[in-house]
Amino acid sequence: MKNSEPESIIKKKQTLGFQAEVKQLLQLMIHSLYSNKEIFLRELISNASDALDKLRFELINNKFISTDNSDLEIIITFDKDNRTINISDNGIGMNRNDIITNLGTIAKSGTQEFFSKLSGDQKKDASLIGQFGVGFYSAFIVAKKIIVKSRHVNSPITEGVLWESEGSGNFTIETINKTNRGTDITLYLRSKEEEYLSSWKLKSIIRKYSDHISFPIKMYKETWDEEKKETVISNNEFEVINQASALWARGKSEITDEQYIEFYKHISHDFEKPLIYTHNHVEGRNEYIQLLYIPSRAPYDLWDRNKRNGIKLYVKRVFIMDDAEQLLPTYLRFVKGVIDSNNLPLNVSREILQESRDVKVIREGSTKRILNILEDLSTSNDKEKIIKYANFWKEFGQVIKEGIGEDNNNKERISKLLRFASTNNDSDIQNVSLMDYIKRMKEGQNKIYYITGENYKSVKNSPHLEIFQKKSIEVLLLTDRVDEWMLSFIPKFENKELVSIAKGNLDLGNLENESDKKQQKETETKFQNLIEEMKKILSEKAKDVRVTYRLTDSPACLVVDENEPSGNMIRMLKAAGQETPNSKPILEINPNHALIQRIQLNNDNIHNWSHILFDQALLAENGVLNDPMNFVKRLNEMLLIK
Ligand code: ADP
Ligand code: MG
Repeated sequence: MKNSEPESIIKKKQTLGFQAEVKQLLQLMIHSLYSNKEIFLRELISNASDALDKLRFELINNKFISTDNSDLEIIITFDKDNRTINISDNGIGMNRNDIITNLGTIAKSGTQEFFSKLSGDQKKDASLIGQFGVGFYSAFIVAKKIIVKSRHVNSPITEGVLWESEGSGNFTIETINKTNRGTDITLYLRSKEEEYLSSWKLKSIIRKYSDHISFPIKMYKETWDEEKKETVISNNEFEVINQASALWARGKSEITDEQYIEFYKHISHDFEKPLIYTHNHVEGRNEYIQLLYIPSRAPYDLWDRNKRNGIKLYVKRVFIMDDAEQLLPTYLRFVKGVIDSNNLPLNVSREILQESRDVKVIREGSTKRILNILEDLSTSNDKEKIIKYANFWKEFGQVIKEGIGEDNNNKERISKLLRFASTNNDSDIQNVSLMDYIKRMKEGQNKIYYITGENYKSVKNSPHLEIFQKKSIEVLLLTDRVDEWMLSFIPKFENKELVSIAKGNLDLGNLENESDKKQQKETETKFQNLIEEMKKILSEKAKDVRVTYRLTDSPACLVVDENEPSGNMIRMLKAAGQETPNSKPILEINPNHALIQRIQLNNDNIHNWSHILFDQALLAENGVLNDPMNFVKRLNEMLLIK
């Protein structure tokens, strides 16, 4: 939002409606987060802290001149008689336009997706909301009315704003005089929420969720009144409730697990615990602190191209920017955290970051840390770690695969992190590493075999697997969209070639013996004529027709040449509206199949049979027929032959 307002700004009280999504979110939140309603305070403090961070940054960069030199702080008070809680900050504040946008709409990327995923099932939706980030609106869980008074650091005293809402359909907004900079939020509590009108309760919530906030959070001091024999709350003296120092700058041993977790929730807007984190003070020529978290769950907008990265950049404890995408490679975009550099200048911009050598060092260091913790999880025998890695792979495996193509320096390390579904498993679970595969290789086997396809069922039942099943050779089953692209970057792993069993000639290498090969030659001669004829008939559809030994149960299958994209790849490209190479597949027929043998003996209907075999093979790999009616017609004709 721009901070300069036009002269003609409307000053009278206005009633505006919430964006439809806000109404929906408010409804949902009140119902599904009720069991954890105290988080409203965490959210409001988190916003106040962000506002202070932004102010400090702007002051350093001289964009705003503030005559108010008061210390940056958050003050929390309550009023038992009026049943209100007040949260004030002297941060950057909001002007009229800011407030209308920020507290009347949801401006997050992926909002659409979020709403489309809501199921109506309260439990499921509650965790989804948590994932989406609850934010300001969560205050309506405990408040029947909220008044926000705010003044942007750049607005004159006469241009404060008062926002008021009961959280139903709309809010009002009017211009007021506001002497102090920043934002004051007053919650008018619902009935039955009086437990929050207590110093003890508020303090314990602050300590539980907001201890890590680096600005002081203050409340009026309580003292023991000897005469009255009770605690009285001072009305002029404050005490600081939290530690008020940047959590990441503290020593590891001074931080509890709970504090790490609450800090994560603050920076990530995630409701759930992180899966794992890593915290390091890096010394030397390039000094920085990194506190990085891997979430337990993929965000709903993981695949949103506009999604911002989750790293906050600080320089010497001063907040510089959110979403510092230069600090980690794209394939680690799910990582959240803070990087605090001692070397970068305070006025660093995104453009400078792009060029900076210090940033490059930080990015490499941070990538290494993340790969380290993943390596540790993935190679451990510890039960908890095994579960964590399986969880990680389920949520982020597809993104990590992008790293194979994106991060050439770490390709080796990343390829060890990969997990696949395999014929060695009974289910579609992806838990087989390339290392596991190699350990199970048959004697004489020197290749890693895989098949790609659209979904587990289609690859699991693919005719291409038949010979491998017969010989008990393991095949990796790849069904993620990125797989084929990724595989083009790893032709070999540990000196073993990775080969698609649906491409090129079947090459079982040393797994075949000489007498097999001799017999195959003889069969090929026997089928020569049939093959030639089929080739002519199918010249528009198939590049070639040949005899194969990869099938045991099916009469035919399709393959492509080694260096050509697979049928699956072509279908994906088509679905994405991309141009597709004009290549034709090869039809392979199984000389041992009764159907093929019959056609070989009696080729009266060879025209129909050729087309039926081709179309069948296409259907078997989940392909789409060009002319399904003709297929049905031909098949029926064949069925009617006596
Ligand atoms: P989020 O913090 O995830 O952006 P919220 O719903 O918590 O979402 O807040 C919405 C926006 O309202 C914030 O991004 C910020 O721009 C603005 N805002 C909220 N509280 C304050 C505050 N105390 N001072 C300044 N701006 C605020
Ligand atoms: Mg917030």
